Amino acid sequence: MILLNKIERILLPFSQIEIVYKHLRNVGSQGYEGVALWIGVLISETEFEITETIIPQQKLSNSEEGLLYLVEAYALEKLNWYLYENKLTLLSQIHSHPNRAYHSETDDKYPIVTKLGGFSIVVPNFAKAPFQLKDWAIFRLQGNQDWRELDKIESSDIFNIIY
Ligand SMILES: [Zn+2]
Repeated sequence: MILLNKIERILLPFSQIEIVYKHLRNVGSQGYEGVALWIGVLISETEFEITETIIPQQKLSNSEEGLLYLVEAYALEKLNWYLYENKLTLLSQIHSHPNRAYHSETDDKYPIVTKLGGFSIVVPNFAKAPFQLKDWAIFRLQGNQDWRELDKIESSDIFNIIY
């Protein structure tokens, strides 16, 4: 059983950010939010290396309730098999918003990441701007539907971008 709540340092290759931004910009240009997943391995008890980006099959909608992404059960099952067979762990989800980056009630209630200590990142403005860590709203799961927002200093301590 891999614990995420002891992680203090995450190695995040810039190339993985580029993969995510490409997807978020692509769906954003059509007016939709998108979601991607970061998976990888624990390299020590407190350090995690993101090795791969998964763009799960997602249904995107623009309804009266606002923008929504939905990853259906079969896509999550497929993901879980992939993680299991390759001894990989889901660390973080990352999704876009049309404007401000925050965790909506839906984001709190229906996350893909459900392990304590896991992360949820929200990118503002459909990821149109070049990547800057300070633009992200980063949340960490610390209890049932209890997502705590990291401040900017914590964020840059934990997320180490590898160029
Ligand atoms: Zn959201």
